[in-house]
Amino acid sequence: MITMAQVEKWYGSFQALHDINMTVRSGERIVLCGPSGSGKSTLIRCINHLETYQKGEIRVGGIVLSDQAKTIDAIRREVGMVFQQFNLFPHLTVLQNCMLAPMKAIGVGRAEAEERARGLLERVKILEQADKYPVQLSGGQQQRVAIARALCMRPKVMLFDEPTSALDPEMVKEVLDTMIALADEGMTMICVTHEMGFARQVADRVIFMASGAIVEEAPPAEFFTNPQHERTRKFLGEIL
Ligand code: ATP
Ligand code: MG
Repeated sequence: MITMAQVEKWYGSFQALHDINMTVRSGERIVLCGPSGSGKSTLIRCINHLETYQKGEIRVGGIVLSDQAKTIDAIRREVGMVFQQFNLFPHLTVLQNCMLAPMKAIGVGRAEAEERARGLLERVKILEQADKYPVQLSGGQQQRVAIARALCMRPKVMLFDEPTSALDPEMVKEVLDTMIALADEGMTMICVTHEMGFARQVADRVIFMASGAIVEEAPPAEFFTNPQHERTRKFLGEIL
């Protein structure tokens, strides 16, 4: 579904990603973790071309990522993304937020877009808020809308960049439960998160990054009980 081969990325003279090699199969759930500044956001943002990279190759569902607008559009259709700061359009209602991309980006008709949106808002248990504006919702509700909005494009892969870290503690669970339900339905997911309970429950593999490189990866049972590298042990010691 996704392969990254020998990917290198620089911000100016600073190298943010070093020789990233990663394969994510269809239906796999990956948790990506690591210290602040280790390159987690950079890595997943490269996958849908929110960041460019300078060397190596990224493929999503058989498409080789390039700078061509056509290719970028094709990839973004397949890849949904949810950010730490929700990024909902403040001037649109919840329902309109969810209808916009299918109508504008892939020409879905209004009636069909509304039906999709309502279906997905129901799935994230927030349909009753459909006519409110983002500012009228709690953080947890906004994040669930952001998930529904991404799903309205029927992506093959979902990328999550610390979706719960801006939330008050009591709202973390409702968002994690939504993500768990999505995982249970078989969605391919890459989640940057420090929610290690979620990683234990949902991840097929945990990938640990430090200083722009993948240090180790393992199934959660192994990752948490028997980390191989000193950097990983230090990180787990700090967060667990
Ligand atoms: P966090 O846990 O704090 O979100 P992260 O692992 O997501 O961190 P990135 O945001 O990917 O880390 O950043 C990786 C490195 O690249 C950091 O050193 C950061 O300062 C640098 N960096 C990120 N974005 C830019 C940018 N636009 N310009 C220059 N340097 C950047
Ligand atoms: Mg980040």
